[in-house]
Amino acid sequence: MAIKNSYLKEVFEGLKKRNADEPEFLQAVEEVLESLEPVVEARPEIQANGIIERIVEPERVVMFRVSWVDDNGKVQVNRGYRVQFNSAIGPYKGGLRLHPSVNLSILKFLGFEQIFKNSLTTLPIGGGKGGSDFDPKGKSDNEVMRFCQSFMTELAKHIGPDTDVPAGDIGVGGREIGYLFGQYKRLQNEYTGVLTGKSITCGGSLARTEATGYGLCYFTNEMLKDAGKSFEGKTAVISGSGNVATYATQKATELGAKVVAISDSNGYIYDEAGIDYKIMKEIKEVKRDRIKTYVNYSKTAKYTEGCKGIWTIPCDIALPCATQNELDEESAKILVKNGVFAVAEGANMPSTPGAIAVFLKEGVLFGPAKAANAGGVATSALEMSQNSIRMAWTFEEVDEKLHDIMRSIYKQASEAAKRYGMEGNLVAGANIAGFEKVANAMIWQGISY
Ligand code: NDP
Repeated sequence: MAIKNSYLKEVFEGLKKRNADEPEFLQAVEEVLESLEPVVEARPEIQANGIIERIVEPERVVMFRVSWVDDNGKVQVNRGYRVQFNSAIGPYKGGLRLHPSVNLSILKFLGFEQIFKNSLTTLPIGGGKGGSDFDPKGKSDNEVMRFCQSFMTELAKHIGPDTDVPAGDIGVGGREIGYLFGQYKRLQNEYTGVLTGKSITCGGSLARTEATGYGLCYFTNEMLKDAGKSFEGKTAVISGSGNVATYATQKATELGAKVVAISDSNGYIYDEAGIDYKIMKEIKEVKRDRIKTYVNYSKTAKYTEGCKGIWTIPCDIALPCATQNELDEESAKILVKNGVFAVAEGANMPSTPGAIAVFLKEGVLFGPAKAANAGGVATSALEMSQNSIRMAWTFEEVDEKLHDIMRSIYKQASEAAKRYGMEGNLVAGANIAGFEKVANAMIWQGISY
């Protein structure tokens, strides 16, 4: 599908010229703009207020040097970023990613997606993203700590509990958030909820760790229910084996599915007896090891090199929870041939445009990332609320709120799709519902805000 509306086309052509070397960012913008055609046609005030031109341009991008000293005494230099994309409905909010692939294109794609995802949560949070090309793999705890402290020394100047509240993402879990939080507190002499994903003893929220994976399954469950189906007795394949994949495996299993495969960037595990999320936790959270070691815990588990092969395993439900563009058109066709009937994205933009087109054409129920994985950021916003009122809710209270939010996200996306004549297309529905709220706020606040 290509953008047809002349206003959207003109904005996108201009964006392509200015950001020719940012393919992931352009991919994310194109997918959203395609969905917005009926909205800009029905609502001329969007063009009149230059909303599309403004929404595709980050309000601010900070790029900085992060120097630190490794265990051998050698000086290392990485590049740090914070993309403050849109603050129309609340302080910038979005994770920090530490991975060697991190660059401005990837962070702009993630920050752009975050605007609409955060809007869908119904909570008052704007969109942002940040990170560094630092690779935490193989680094000692002390090296990770020194890196995080140096990274925060610069980042602290640009964030704050009412300005910008970062969280974790790939390569940033509880350990890294702790080092970042400690350094912020030291520098600002303030004990505030400036980061989310904190430890429970330091203002963190119960259920935040589980939230993205659980939320993904709550959303998928709504989508299945609407089609008269459920997780019960179904086979699921979940890519990745990090935070999102682990808790998606737990919740999908609790809801009655059998998860038969998981992966990391080297290969995948197939276990016909069903994957045990407790073993995943032991390998990834405690031992920080590779997923191939799963075979040491289960007699029926088999390991295969090459992560893409996971999509050749027959399943009813596929939940890509690893990284962007991990599921391409060819893999989508294999999944469809093998009988998949629902796909929901735990990772950000894991399906390529070609793969999404296959799913939509073949009538596969498809839950796009910005709706399906919004449970993590929604619970981060619940963490911010608890910090503001200096209270802590129980696990059950947070989980219940998360569940309600995911139901509401599904409803908003499916109703918006219906309203604009695209019933069942949750890609368009999520983009439209997320966009309209932000666009209305931008119009209300005037142009030079
Ligand atoms: P983690 O770092 O905890 O885990 C990422 C996992 O994906 C690792 O197992 C990693 O393996 C694996 N992986 C990376 N590349 C590939 C690949 N090409 N094929 C298969 N596996 C791969 O990250 P999260 O679980 O936190 O994040 C996963 C995705 O979910 C990301 O897209 C993130 O942006 C998104 N997300 C995360 C949220 C959260 O709350 N954590 C919220 C919303 C979205 P390896 O160790 O080999 O690199």
